[in-house]
Amino acid sequence: MEYVSICMLLDYRKQIDSNLSKTNPLEYREVYLIWYDQLCVDNFPASVKEEKPLLLFIESVQRVNQIPYHKKKLVFLYSAMRHFALECEKMGFSVYYHSTSDDYASSIIDLLQKHTHWNLSYMQPSEWDSREAIKTVKENYPSIQEYPNNFFLAPLKPYVPRISKGWRMEFFYREMRRMTGYLMHGENPIGGEWNYDKENRKKLPLEINLPPVYKKDKDNITHEVMDMVEAIYPNNFGVIKDFNYGVTRSDALDALQYFLGNALENFGPYEDAMTIRGSVLFHSHLSMYLNVGLLNPKEVCDSVIHHFEKNQTIPISSIEGFIRQIIGWREYIRIYYEAMMPKVREANYFNFEKSLPAVYWTAETKMKCMSECVHPVIEKGYVHHIPRLMILSNFSNLTGTDPRALNEWFWLGFIDAYEWVVLPNVLGMSTFADGGILASKPYVAGGNYVNKMSDYCNQCSYSVKEKTGNKACPMNYLYWNFIDQQRETFSKSGRASFMVKTFDKKSILEKNAIKASSEKFLAELPRLSKEEWLSNA
Ligand SMILES: Cc1cc2nc3c(=O)[nH]c(=O)nc-3n(C[C@H](O)[C@H](O)[C@H](O)COP(=O)(O)OP(=O)(O)OC[C@H]3O[C@@H](n4cnc5c(N)ncnc54)[C@H](O)[C@@H]3O)c2cc1C
Ligand code: SF4
Repeated sequence: MEYVSICMLLDYRKQIDSNLSKTNPLEYREVYLIWYDQLCVDNFPASVKEEKPLLLFIESVQRVNQIPYHKKKLVFLYSAMRHFALECEKMGFSVYYHSTSDDYASSIIDLLQKHTHWNLSYMQPSEWDSREAIKTVKENYPSIQEYPNNFFLAPLKPYVPRISKGWRMEFFYREMRRMTGYLMHGENPIGGEWNYDKENRKKLPLEINLPPVYKKDKDNITHEVMDMVEAIYPNNFGVIKDFNYGVTRSDALDALQYFLGNALENFGPYEDAMTIRGSVLFHSHLSMYLNVGLLNPKEVCDSVIHHFEKNQTIPISSIEGFIRQIIGWREYIRIYYEAMMPKVREANYFNFEKSLPAVYWTAETKMKCMSECVHPVIEKGYVHHIPRLMILSNFSNLTGTDPRALNEWFWLGFIDAYEWVVLPNVLGMSTFADGGILASKPYVAGGNYVNKMSDYCNQCSYSVKEKTGNKACPMNYLYWNFIDQQRETFSKSGRASFMVKTFDKKSILEKNAIKASSEKFLAELPRLSKEEWLSNA
C-alpha cells in the first residue's frame, strides 16, 4: 500500500478547520483523548464533563495502510469523528483535532514530547491494538490516567472466567434479563418464556412489503471526507458512491426512531429470512452507530421497551428477539473477546489453510446466494446476521477456507466491524475456529436451509433439488462432504451427531458422488488472497 503523507491529509480538512475554533495546545494542562469508537459525551467520566479539559482527537490513517477497509466504513468513521468534535465544541469543550499518518502510539508520544505540560487521560479502548498502543505510551509516561470503559452493560469480572470455559449465551442472557429487569415480572420472564427463537424463523411472504432503508443526506464535511478517501485509498474494498449513512448522534437517534416506527413489529418473525428484495429486511441497521458510541445499548433497549409498552400489537417475539441481540449476544461477544484475547486471533480448529474464494472480493459467481450476499457488502458494508452466518461463513467453512482470512475479510468489509465484535462472531460463532468455546457445533448448512429461508434458489443457475453432479447446488454436496470429513467433531457433539449417522446411511454410490462433486468443485473454485486481490486492484 502507498504511504500517505501528512500533506495529503491536510488537504482534506478544510471543513473541520474552518468550523472548529483554533486552539493553542500550549494553553491546556488537562487533556482527554477521545478514541474513534467513543463518540458520546454522556459516556465521558464525570470529572471530564465537569472540568472540561482539552479534548484530543487523533484521526490516524496508519491502520488503513495495513487493512484496506471498506471505503464507506472509512467515510462513516472519519465523518462521525469530525462531526463529534464540532458537537463537543458546541457543548463548551475546547478541541484539538490531529490528523496523522503515524500509528496511535507514535503520534501520542510525539504530542506529549511537544507538550510536556499535558496531563493526559483517556477511557480504556475496546479494541486490543489500541490498548497495546496506549500501553507503549504508558511505558514512557506512567502518569497518564485511564478510566474504565463504560460503553457496555455487563460487568466483566463475574463473567470472563465462566465464558472462557464455554458457558453458553442463553444462561448469560437470563442473568442479563434479571440484572436489567427488561421483560421481567419479578423473577419470571414476561410471557412465560425466556426465548422466542422458535418464532423467529419465518420465510418472507411475497405479500409483505419491506420498509425503505433509512437514509441521510450528506453535508460538506462528509463530502470532503469522501473526496479524501477516494483520493487516498482508491483501491480499498467497496463502493463509496451513494454514501447515505447518518454520521451524528442526532442521525443515529433518528435511525433508532425509524426502526421503531417501521421495522420492529416484523423484526422477530422474519429475523432469519433472506430475500433478493433487500438486504436489511426488518433489521435495525443500528450496529454501526452502537459500535462507535453514537447510540448506547441501554438507551436503545429502553426505547424498544417503551415503544412496546405503548404499542401492544407488537409481538413479544419481536421485542424479546431484539432485546436478546443487544443484552444477550452483543454483551456476551464482548466478554468473550476480553476472555480469549490475544490467543484466539490464531484459532483454526480445523486447520484450514486455503485462501478466500475469489467471490468474496468480486461477487462474481453462478451461486445466487453468494452473489446476493456479497453484493450488499461491496455496495454498503452490510448484510444482516443470517447471510453473515449461514451463507458467507457457511460457504467459507464448506470450502475449507482459513477462518482467519474470513475474519480479516469481515473486519475490512463491514461497516460495523471492530475487532472486539467481529472476531468472536467469526472465529467463535461462525467457523468453530475456537473448537467449541462459543458455539456447541459448527454452523454449516446445505441448500435445503437456504431454500427454506430465502427466495435465492428459484433464481439460481444451480438446482437446489439436485444433490450431486454439475447442475446440483454446491451447498448440497459440500455440506455432506464437510460432515464426512469432520465426522469426529460432529460425532462428539450430542445434537449434531445425527448428521454423521444420516451420512453413513447413504448408499456407497451416493457417497462417492458427493465426494467426486465436492473434489471437482473445490479444485475449480477460484481463490484470491487479500494480497493477490490488492495487487490486482
Ligand atoms: C460472521 C459474523 C460476523 C459478524 N460481524 C459483526 C461485526 O463486525 N459487527 C457487529 O456489530 N456485529 C457483527 N455480527 C453480529 C450481527 O450479525 C450484527 O450485529 C448485525 O447483523 C448488525 O445488523 P443490525 O444492526 O441490523 O442488527 P439487528 O439484527 O437489528 O440486531 C440488533 C443489534 O444486536 C446486536 N447484535 C446482534 N447479534 C450480535 C452478535 N452476534 N454480536 C454482536 N452484536 C450483535 C447488534 O448491535 C445489532 O445492531 C456478526 C455476525 C456474524 C455471524
Ligand atoms: S441453489 Fe444452492 S447455490 Fe443456488 S442459491 Fe440455492 S443454495 Fe445457493
